[in-house]
Amino acid sequence: MTHPLSDRISSLPVSQTLAMAAKARELKGQGIDIISLSLGEPDFNTPDFIKDAAIEAIKQDYNSYTPVDGYVELKEAICTKFKRDNDLVYQPNQIVVSTGAKQSIANVAQVLLNPGDEVLLPAPYWVSYSAIAILCEAKFVEIPSSIDDDFKITPAQLEAAITPKTKMVFFNSPNNPSGSIYSEKEYRALAAVLEKHPQIYILSDEIYEHINYGVKPFSFAAIENMFDRTITVNGLAKAFAMTGWRIGYLGAPEWIAKACTKMQGQITSGTNCIAQRAAITAVLAPVEKVQYMVDEFETRRDLVLELLGEIEGFKLNIPEGAFYVFPDISAFFGKTVNGIKIENANDFSLFLLEKANVATVTGDAFGAPNCIRMSYAASVVQLKEAIQRIKDAVS
Ligand code: GLU
Repeated sequence: MTHPLSDRISSLPVSQTLAMAAKARELKGQGIDIISLSLGEPDFNTPDFIKDAAIEAIKQDYNSYTPVDGYVELKEAICTKFKRDNDLVYQPNQIVVSTGAKQSIANVAQVLLNPGDEVLLPAPYWVSYSAIAILCEAKFVEIPSSIDDDFKITPAQLEAAITPKTKMVFFNSPNNPSGSIYSEKEYRALAAVLEKHPQIYILSDEIYEHINYGVKPFSFAAIENMFDRTITVNGLAKAFAMTGWRIGYLGAPEWIAKACTKMQGQITSGTNCIAQRAAITAVLAPVEKVQYMVDEFETRRDLVLELLGEIEGFKLNIPEGAFYVFPDISAFFGKTVNGIKIENANDFSLFLLEKANVATVTGDAFGAPNCIRMSYAASVVQLKEAIQRIKDAVS
């Protein structure tokens, strides 16, 4: 039976990251020993000093509705953070706190995009960018890259993708899923192209900022003449192991921030009060306080690269940030492996789930059909076991 759902929801793809995580959970629930490398979620606990701040907020009776755009103390703390880490000078009226960076991004898209506008997505890109564009009835245009270019696009590619209908471009560095980081020089070269097209707004998703292995990411809005056209999105989920707390935020020109507040005021209102109070402590904490997690991720990255590098058919780049590897596995296409015909990345990801009991995410969901994404935000024991299983399954 077909239910009378709207065209809007019918045309929306399911989030493949969340779908794969749900599938892994379901199989585990059936007693199957699945190792899930699907979801981008730190396996650490939220640090105690942040938990303490939340407990204190509960004791102090923070229980009422919050201002739609966030507590003023939190917005001030975010301004301090932007100045400290990114050399960006935002005022509190340019900050909007949301229920996760995902909502920040959705807000921006909703307030800037009209049906038919074009959104440029350098691929690979995070799965929800394209879905959010679809919800706005905008057209997303992929700009492909490959593992040989370290999954980065060139200024010439950007220029070629721009049309009079282009309204936005999404940048994400460190990148989910490739882990690549654009240098200041590379970003400036892309900005030089955008300078010629003043109708284009830039969304810079910097959620993986602190998870980098020695290469400090550069904020796009720090390019002088890009500041007034850039929306900088960040949040607490990844670096502070606070995925479930749902705190994201943006810094933007005031007129965009105001529009996002208006949108949020009709959809969800202000973000959870306890999480916001704890976020003040997290945002103001010296980054060194969470460095132990980053160091651990780096050790795991090196381990995963070494072990996967031993498997024929896995082509790897060296991710400089985030906690994913994004191997090109197209060498398996057209082959029958362990009795299963592999035509594409989707088949390969399902093959790994079935034959190795390892959950990954197909690169198709990220606009990179030759690859699969594996998160190494899992224990060393699990990572070793997962890769051994993969090795056995493909050998
Ligand atoms: N951003 C994370 C990921 O890519 C969490 C899941 C999601 O929201 O997509 O796995």
